[in-house]
Amino acid sequence: MADKFDLIVIGAGPGGYVAAIRAAQLGLKTACVEKWIDKEGKTVHGGTCLNVGCIPSKALLEASHKFIEAQHDFDDMGIQAGDVTMDVKKMMARKDKIVKNLTGGIAGLFKANGVTALEGAGKVLSSKQVEVSKDGEKVVYEADNIVIASGSVPVDIPPTPLTEGLIVDSTGALEFDETPKRLGVIGAGVIGLELGSVWNRLGSEVTVLEAMDSFLPMVDQAVAKETQKLLKKQGLDIKLGARVTGSDIKDNEVVVKYADSEGDKEITFDKLIVCVGRRPYTQGLLGDDAGVKLDERGFIFVDDQCRTSVPGVYAIGDVVRGPMLAHKASEEGIMVADIVAGHKAEMNYDAIPSVIYTFPEVAWVGMNEQEAKAAGIEVKSGSFPFAASGRAMANNATEGMAKVITDAETDRVLGMHIVGQHAGEMIAQGVIAMEFGSSAEDLALTCYAHPTMSEAVHEAALAVDGHAIHMANRKKRK
Ligand code: FAD
Ligand code: AMP
Repeated sequence: MADKFDLIVIGAGPGGYVAAIRAAQLGLKTACVEKWIDKEGKTVHGGTCLNVGCIPSKALLEASHKFIEAQHDFDDMGIQAGDVTMDVKKMMARKDKIVKNLTGGIAGLFKANGVTALEGAGKVLSSKQVEVSKDGEKVVYEADNIVIASGSVPVDIPPTPLTEGLIVDSTGALEFDETPKRLGVIGAGVIGLELGSVWNRLGSEVTVLEAMDSFLPMVDQAVAKETQKLLKKQGLDIKLGARVTGSDIKDNEVVVKYADSEGDKEITFDKLIVCVGRRPYTQGLLGDDAGVKLDERGFIFVDDQCRTSVPGVYAIGDVVRGPMLAHKASEEGIMVADIVAGHKAEMNYDAIPSVIYTFPEVAWVGMNEQEAKAAGIEVKSGSFPFAASGRAMANNATEGMAKVITDAETDRVLGMHIVGQHAGEMIAQGVIAMEFGSSAEDLALTCYAHPTMSEAVHEAALAVDGHAIHMANRKKRK
């Protein structure tokens, strides 16, 4: 008879492994099932985020940014670095080492917290049974509760079928062993812009083909416009309103067909990255009698507290509605573990930050000005350019701006949108402001350390009432 658990988690990505650790900390007898196999044939934890997502992409973004800095910023600072070259294979080896360290660390965390790691593919047979299969062997485990955290996989589109070494998804784009001369990217979303930036910095001529006419519609349009301008200046050729309709492989090159307002066009690349989004992954996950319902887009249907249609079965992370972000998955994991352990728990879905790790970074939380107005809210906003920040000048990072969006009636912070160096760190201030129901005045009355990039957030909050200090004042203080 196989072990019985209080909770079995299926999937050890940032949703699943965090849920399992929290549940074990709360005294639940917990197991976590994972089927990801690495190149050496070993089971690895960490899911998309650690293996082929957040972490490896940031390792490459950081290395490629330093390469650019060494070429363009050092001289001005008096540093003579000579001829700067990039060894792509070494950059990749560093990335692989970071991934290995982190994924290996989760096994250690499981051990330290008393989580049983089960290797193999998990299948929900009923609300109380999970089958785990590996190498043809199947074991059925009993559980009082089940959390599904099976994540997502890249979407592929019929016009550009993946072709080894030529047409790749985001995972393939993290593995190039040399810099392609002409690189195409389909999709100007978060992942497309990050991966396009990496290879652009290393010398590729990058063209991004985006079907939509608008650029980053989820970001405040003042911030999005500034971002588009900066990325263009770096050499990213972003073609909006360009829908990819087909492709051919000729002489080891990829010929992409697309349609824009002027008609049908073709463009030739050495490699093409398809970054058109991700879809929930539920393959082989649900037995015939599981009863867990999916929504019309294939996500597991859940309520606000991640309960599925079957009592005792929960689902979290990329496999359910909401933004596909690691920290959203982890927060849902903690909420569900708390609920299973008998505690009250909920999440504030209005205060989930998003970051695009380009240079400069783009980060936002809450509504943008356009969304707030469309929702019928009378809006006030304040912006501050990094060009007026002393620290930004010292850092050689004067591009971008911070913007605070508030409800004109109550002064409550509705959103914060930033493009600038370290925007991904600064946005935590907006998240905390929103979590605490702060007003722009609360931010304005807060003492910020000088000189910091965050002072731009302070000034943007002051600017909501026209009282920024380091900008021409528009209003007289009463
Ligand atoms: P996943 O991380 O996908 O994990 C699911 C796990 O479940 C996998 O390990 C899978 O093998 C396992 N599994 C699936 N089915 C079964 C089964 N039947 N049995 C056993 N195991 C199973 N997000 C951010 O927040 N910040 C970023 O900077 C960021 N960058 C990204 C960059 C790239 C290139 C990509 C592709 C994604 C990025 N993301 C980022 C998104 C982030 O990776 C996901 O939102 C996050 O990994 C979702 O976590 P999850 O636990 O829901 O699923
Ligand atoms: P995201 O969902 O943020 O990863 O972004 C994916 C992007 O790909 C979206 O902005 C889509 O508009 C874009 N996209 C999807 N299909 C196509 C296509 N056939 N041609 C060009 N862009 C596309």
